[in-house]
Amino acid sequence: MFFVNKHDKNIDSIEQIRSEVLSCTLCNLSLTRIKAVPGEGTPQSKIMFIGEAPGFVEDNMGIPFVGTAGKILDKYLKIAGINRSEVFITNIVKCRPPKNRVPSVEEQKTCFDYLSRQINIINPKIICLLGRVSFEAILSGSSILQNRGKIIERNNKKYFVTIHPAAIIYNKKLSDIFEKDLIFLGTLIRNI
Ligand code: SF4
Repeated sequence: MFFVNKHDKNIDSIEQIRSEVLSCTLCNLSLTRIKAVPGEGTPQSKIMFIGEAPGFVEDNMGIPFVGTAGKILDKYLKIAGINRSEVFITNIVKCRPPKNRVPSVEEQKTCFDYLSRQINIINPKIICLLGRVSFEAILSGSSILQNRGKIIERNNKKYFVTIHPAAIIYNKKLSDIFEKDLIFLGTLIRNI
């Protein structure tokens, strides 16, 4: 994990973070984005999903996971009995990297305070890390396929690692893994 934020949970808020992100110019991604994408969902969410970065559609709409990968996520959330309106969804970086390149470590570090504050406020029961970039940034993990589908406890928080839904666009065989993982996640969250 990059660092622990020092904001006071009692006076910070999801709305405050949203407002800061929308006008943020802390890194160069602000120069090429159309809209920053702070995240979507209720602060009372039991689950938080963290992906990599906004894509083309997200950049245009300012909403996370609404493009092709978002539709895949929606499909499997539904199968797993997880209501999207009851979760919080965001990304490691809040602005789209040009041509959907992987955000640099510097960009990830610069943006990380927003995410850290969101986690601090929401304090979800489970944080679901979608894909390699999220796994690396938050848990310094490497192999998704070796670590996916199970709870990892770290610093008094529970993490659940799975593949990024965008991976299914390029490899349809991964849909079975994603379905299995989200069904398990749905069961976990109903029993917490
Ligand atoms: S990616 Fe994060 S740090 Fe960079 S401009 Fe966007 S909100 Fe600010």
